[in-house]
This record gives sequence, structure tokens and C-alpha cells, in this order.
Amino acid sequence: MITEALPTDTKPTETSNSEIRRIFDLQKKSQYKVANTTANQRIAKLKKLHEAVLRYRPQIKDALYKDFRKHPSEVDLTEIYPVTSEIKHVKRDLKTWMRGEDVKTPLAMMGSSSYIRYEAKGIVLIISPWNFPINLTFGPLASAIAAGNTVMIKPSEMTPNASALMGKIVREVFTEDEVSLLEGGVETSTALLKLPFNHIFFTGAPSIGKIVMKAAAEHLTSVTLELGGKSPTIVDQTADIKLAAKRIAWGKYVNNGQVCIAPDYAYVHESKKEAFLEEYKKQMKDFFTEDASQESSYARIVNKRHYHRVKSYIDDAIAKGAKVEAGATFDENQDYIAPTLMTNVAKDSKLMTEEIFGPVLPVFTYRNIDDVIDEVNAREKPLALYIYSKNKKNIKHIIHNTRAGGTCINHNAAHFYNTNLPFGGSNNSGIGKAHGFEGFKSFSNARGVFNQHVPNALDLLTPPYDNFKQRLIDFTIKWF
Ligand code: NAD
Repeated sequence: MITEALPTDTKPTETSNSEIRRIFDLQKKSQYKVANTTANQRIAKLKKLHEAVLRYRPQIKDALYKDFRKHPSEVDLTEIYPVTSEIKHVKRDLKTWMRGEDVKTPLAMMGSSSYIRYEAKGIVLIISPWNFPINLTFGPLASAIAAGNTVMIKPSEMTPNASALMGKIVREVFTEDEVSLLEGGVETSTALLKLPFNHIFFTGAPSIGKIVMKAAAEHLTSVTLELGGKSPTIVDQTADIKLAAKRIAWGKYVNNGQVCIAPDYAYVHESKKEAFLEEYKKQMKDFFTEDASQESSYARIVNKRHYHRVKSYIDDAIAKGAKVEAGATFDENQDYIAPTLMTNVAKDSKLMTEEIFGPVLPVFTYRNIDDVIDEVNAREKPLALYIYSKNKKNIKHIIHNTRAGGTCINHNAAHFYNTNLPFGGSNNSGIGKAHGFEGFKSFSNARGVFNQHVPNALDLLTPPYDNFKQRLIDFTIKWF
């Protein structure tokens, strides 16, 4: 039984402009010192971060419980593990990444050699969201440190307990001229975005991503934008329905549906509709009993603003004729919305025009897969697209005729956990990629270095031009 009060939507404490400037100037002075650290020195820093995350594991769980009643096991699975596995990946491969890459030399450039040097971009800004505050702050931080940058972090104001704790961890592990965390909301974010950072890594909504990109353009700062959107899920006639229902229900209700790669809505082949709804409802009960408000595994909506947002989507869908198959009950005192399943949802209702980011699954049926593909392609490119099928031809047809940041076959959201895969969106769902080597590259400048060892052909082709030189140029164009 829940006794503690949930956090109210209070105004965040902002960081002053002078403090922001002070840290930026400090980091500017130390950026080359940090950039010239060896792989072992960077690994030592990440080891300290890794140890701190494990040492503070109980406090992290406590903070996230206070912020939105997240279950401690879910914190381990979705906040602690992704950070520790990202750090382990970096520790394992950093020496290889930092060695850079030798590239081939074309015959016409004989006598030279070339290589790529991955060098730190400089001072980078990480702006993180509230839905996985630890994971989506310390994950990118590991990549930024791996690449040798100094880092300023602006976490979300909506999970104040997690943000304050991350600030404490950062102060304990790093000196402020290498990594600094600045708490605050839009005001602090806006002030930070005025500075000439060398890279900005932003995770959040597409609408805010546009604000970030516009601000970055002022200084031609490169950006990684990890955004969101509506990730469709397709369940075809060959799918294992029981398994699909279980995995989709997990993907939908983990973190109370507040997941950028949650299956936003589902298309189920019409021949499997009844079986799917039945299995899905059974799964909801298996996970959270008949009354999820009494089940500690079920988190809450993060605050009143988002509670009213999701509730208004459900109300709007019902007003437009949607059928509630399960859920759609509420308790405003707890920011509680029951796990909800809906059919007959109008395509012009808010549930289908906006990213849901809450515990509601609209289910549609289809007969012809190409109709689904047309609908998916008529929307913005999603961050993820999921396919449940045993038919290789269907899977290939869907993948080849749609676009998405990532895809799981017979699962959802699980691709986030494989740090060997690039993670990120495409266009409206994001620009650039995170995780593993891709994350390291996002925070690095790939400097192309050309080294001339002996005189080369270009030396023969300098002005003044004459017939002989022209013949040499013609020969080069023809044969090399
Ligand atoms: P948000 O965009 O509202 O906030 C993200 C960060 O931006 C916060 O730190 C916030 O303080 C800051 N911010 C908010 N408004 C701002 C403004 N006007 N100017 C400058 N900074 C501003 O996102 P959120 O509500 O924290 O998270 C939900 C969104 O993030 C969803 O759209 C979700 O899909 C997306 N998301 C994406 C990923 C991913 O990896 N692609 C992961 C998690 C969440």
C-alpha cells in the first residue's frame, strides 16, 4: 500500500548564468589536458563512475521510487544494467577505438599513407530526459569520457531526486573542469544552449530537439539528437501470439509506458485479433493482478502534467468511439492510470496523432500487410518498428519497405541492450547514434591524416601547365 506522497510539480531551481559560464571557462582551459589522456586514464575514470553507480545503487532505487514509484528491480534492469554494460563495453574496446584506423592509399598517391585519428570534440553538453534519468545521462557520459571530452550535463527537472543524486555522484567522481552537472529546467537549458559547445547530445522530445538544433546552428555545433515518436508493432498471422502478447505487454508497461521505444500501437492480423486480445488481457493480470494500483511492480506517471496529458488522450479516444478492452481507470492522487488496452481507436484521435508515452495500447487489425506499410510510411519515421512473425518473407518485406531507427524481430525494446548495435532514430526520431563504438564516434572528430613520405605525382603536376603535364593528367584520370 502506498503511503508516501508523490512529488508535486514544483518549479525547478535553476543554475545561474554566471555559474554556467564559470564551469564552461574552466572546462575550456582543461579540454586539451583531458583530450590527451590515455586509454588507461579514461578507463580509470569510467571505473570510478562504475563503482559509484554500484555503491549508490540503493540510493538510486530510492530516488526513482520517490520520483515515480519505479520498482527497484526495474531500476536494476533499466537504469543500472544499461550503464554498467555500456561502461564495460567501453573498457573492453577503448584501446582499439583510440588506435584509429589505417586506410588504403590509391595508386595515384603512391608514397603516402593515411589514417583516421578519433580525437575528442572538446567541451560537450549532454541534456537528458526524465524517463530513464540515470541510464540516459550516465550512458552518454561514458561515451563522452571514452572519447576524451570535458562534459557539462543538464539532467531533467522532472525527476528531481534522481537529478540531485546524479549531481552528488558526479561531484564525487570527477573534478568540475572535466565533468560537471548543472541542475535546472528550461531556463538553465536555454542558457547552456547559448554557449559554443563542440557537441550537444540531446535526448528528449522531437519538438525540443528542434529548439536544440536551432541553437546549435548558431555556433555550427554538431548534434546527436535522440528523440521519440510513435513506434509501431506488427503482429502477423504466423506469429506466436502468446509470446507476442507477453513481450508487447512488458514493453508497454515497463516504466509505466514512459519509454521512447515502447511499442506505441499495434497492428494485429485480423485472423488473430481475438486470440491476441485474450492473451494480452491475461498477461496484464499476470503482471499486475486485477488491480495494478496495489502492485508494486507498476510505476506511476511522472507528474500531474503528464497524468492529465495521457488521461486526456484516453478521454478523447473514448469520445471518438474507442472501445476500452481493459483499464482506463484513474487515481489522480497517485498519478495512476491503469494498464489500458483499447480497440476501435479513431486515427485522428490524440492517442494516434501524438506519442502516447503512457500505459495505453491501441490495437488495430489488418488484412493486407501493404496497407499497414502505407500507414506507417505516411507517418514520421519511428524510433523503432517491431515485427512479430515466423515468416521470413514477411519480415524482409516489412523491413525493406519501411524506415525506422531500429527494429526488433519477435521482441520489442530489447535492441537497446545490445551495445554493439547503433542506437538512435532517423529524421523526426533522431539524428546520430549512441552506444558502443557509435557512441564513441558521436563524441569524436574523425580526423583524416595524410602523410606524404616521398615525392608524389602531384609534385609533377604543378603550374605552369603544358602538353606533357596535360597528358599525365589524362593518363591519371583514365587509369587511376
Ligand atoms: P523533453 O524534451 O521535454 O526534455 C528533455 C530535456 O530537455 C530536459 O532536460 C528538459 O529540461 C530540456 N528541455 C525541455 N524543454 C526545453 C526547452 N524549451 N529548451 C531547452 N531545453 C528544454 O523530454 P522528456 O519529457 O524529458 O522525455 C520524453 C521525450 O523524450 C519523449 O519524446 C521520448 O520519446 C524522448 N526520449 C527519447 C529517447 C531516445 O533515446 N531516443 C530516450 C528517452 C526519451
